[in-house]
Amino acid sequence: MLTETVTLAAGSGTGRAPAATGTGPAASRAPAPVLSSGARSLLLNASMEPLCIVSLRRAVLLVMSGKATVLETDGRLLHSEHASVPLPVVLCLTRYVHVPVRRPVPPTRRTVLQRDSHRCAYCGGGADTVDHVHPRSRGGRHEWTNVVAACVRCNHRKADRLLHEIGWELGFAPRAPRWSVTFGTAAARSEPLWAAYVPA
Ligand SMILES: [Zn+2]
Repeated sequence: MLTETVTLAAGSGTGRAPAATGTGPAASRAPAPVLSSGARSLLLNASMEPLCIVSLRRAVLLVMSGKATVLETDGRLLHSEHASVPLPVVLCLTRYVHVPVRRPVPPTRRTVLQRDSHRCAYCGGGADTVDHVHPRSRGGRHEWTNVVAACVRCNHRKADRLLHEIGWELGFAPRAPRWSVTFGTAAARSEPLWAAYVPA
């Protein structure tokens, strides 16, 4: 079987060290050389929209079976008996797959803080709370366009007032994240080569 023969080797022309191939939990589980167990690849639909994050093993299988092509690699090569493929950091399906409409992510403390990168919408400092721009006590709704991350201090200072009443303004228009926030900026930050493919 193809997966059993896949080994990882350092490609030429890069300064990066190859991932561990003979140590770690994966090696003790399987006798054949296996890929670094923590490695992940970003899988895009044929339309170039991000679909999901897949294990490196799955990514290699998709490439070797012709179901996906490699868009970004870190320079390392994966060798099988018959072929070498660049280690897929970002890959793209060759055929478009229809994806059911995603359930929208509700604005919660966690998701709003993630959308706003834990930065206060008013002062730019670290944020731990969520503020309703138009206060709920004054008819503001709990929806993505009306919630922002805020630090405790700004949240208290603003209280139940409207921005124009205290001379504050927002530097951006809050909106629902286009992409699942758990998979958005945090994921892109963890792997720089993904950033260009994942909407912020
Ligand atoms: Zn603040």
